[in-house]
Amino acid sequence: MRLIGLIGGMSWESTVPYYRIINETVRERLGPLRSAEILLYSVDFGPIERLQHEGRWDEAGSTLGAAARRLASAGAECLVLCTNTMHKVAPQIAAHAEIPLLHIADPTGAAATSRGARTVGLLGTRFTMEEDFYRRRLEQRHGLEVLVPESGERDEIHRIIYEELCAGRLDERSRNVFRAVMTRLAQRGAQAIILGCTEITLLVGDGDSPVPILDTTRLHALAAADFALQPDSRGA
Ligand code: GLU
Repeated sequence: MRLIGLIGGMSWESTVPYYRIINETVRERLGPLRSAEILLYSVDFGPIERLQHEGRWDEAGSTLGAAARRLASAGAECLVLCTNTMHKVAPQIAAHAEIPLLHIADPTGAAATSRGARTVGLLGTRFTMEEDFYRRRLEQRHGLEVLVPESGERDEIHRIIYEELCAGRLDERSRNVFRAVMTRLAQRGAQAIILGCTEITLLVGDGDSPVPILDTTRLHALAAADFALQPDSRGA
């Protein structure tokens, strides 16, 4: 089994399902007492969040790059960055370590196309919804058309992510906000909805959306488990 390196803590609320899904997948495939070999570098999210909102992405990228380097030097064979937003600086982070970074948009885009979706709705932080680092990858590598919520809806989703979900709060009113936004995206033509923030899955699931949900936390964790289960250089 290959050793995988998680960069988590953004927020730690969403790192918990990564750990669970990766281990459940290894157990399903290899047997009841089998589990994944994982290194977890969990950061203190508060300072990272400040750098994001002050636009100091280079500094945030350097912090996570240092984490990547430490994981690689401890023997990790790949990097799994447990957040969509920080993929804004994924190339900078990956440059610190000579191991592959499993980009979160790739299993997500592949899941959309394998379900026959051509047009997808994207929910996430304002950075993920409004900037092009994430959408462009879905459009160019996976041939998808990407719809995002209207401006006021984006503000509210962003607020719910940082003020509630990353702080461990699940609120019924906010669940209803997500339901309404997903319904409007479906009415505008979205054939599936990407939960493009790794905490959203803590609040809503398939039953909350009129069209299928693509949960980036789950899809990314499954990609990490797939990587772990490919034979390593020793054939183990
Ligand atoms: N975990 C979230 C994401 O997937 C948001 C927190 C962050 O900014 O990293 O984008």
